[in-house]
Amino acid sequence: MKNKSDKPQGLLLVVSGPSGAGKGTICSLLRKELPELSYSVSVTTREPREGEVDGRDYFFKTVAQVKDMIFRGELLEYAQVYGNYYGTPKPYVMNLLNEGKDVLLEIDIQGALQIKKVFPDGVFIFVVPPSLEELRARIYKRGTDAKEVIEKRLKAATSELSYASEYDYIIVNDVAEKATKRVLTLLEAERYRAGRTYFLVDKMLQKQENK
Ligand code: 5GP
Repeated sequence: MKNKSDKPQGLLLVVSGPSGAGKGTICSLLRKELPELSYSVSVTTREPREGEVDGRDYFFKTVAQVKDMIFRGELLEYAQVYGNYYGTPKPYVMNLLNEGKDVLLEIDIQGALQIKKVFPDGVFIFVVPPSLEELRARIYKRGTDAKEVIEKRLKAATSELSYASEYDYIIVNDVAEKATKRVLTLLEAERYRAGRTYFLVDKMLQKQENK
């Protein structure tokens, strides 16, 4: 779709992939490299982990509060992941995009596929581990969850890999810094897509018409 407004809409960057692939690390590095990138803080009903801060890592909510938000249409997408609700607050993301600011979402696959239906122009990135053995090692090393939760995540992560084909880009996270560079490169290219930059040509043509 051609953007005919006089300013580009913000770019919606959706980073997703199975747990343990390292999308969180990549997103942290991306945010350091691109401080102008706005990060959407999700709501969740899961318990805060040690060191997590309400409003910075997540907005920690009760199930009733999240259900209320869903009912009022305040979430752009939501999903149940490992028994807890997670969702993306709609007004925050919409306002930023309309102001021409780029927004980063780090969400699970169910959520990413919902967003794709509403924002087909978004950039959808699927982060994969270099191997399943490495995935297992990473999930265990993180050690923030109980063993049964880890096993559940591993099983889910393996079957989630098949969703990779639904995405625009697949990034192998062998070394986080290298993977982040790959994301930065493709973002740079995405900014020049005709659909995003057509407003420049449109402006030229309008100037010509007004002469
Ligand atoms: P964690 O509990 O480890 O922080 O996150 C569990 C999973 O939920 C991760 O795959 C994470 O990307 C995903 N997640 C975080 N926020 C959201 C959200 O707003 N929506 C959806 N659909 N998934 C989310």
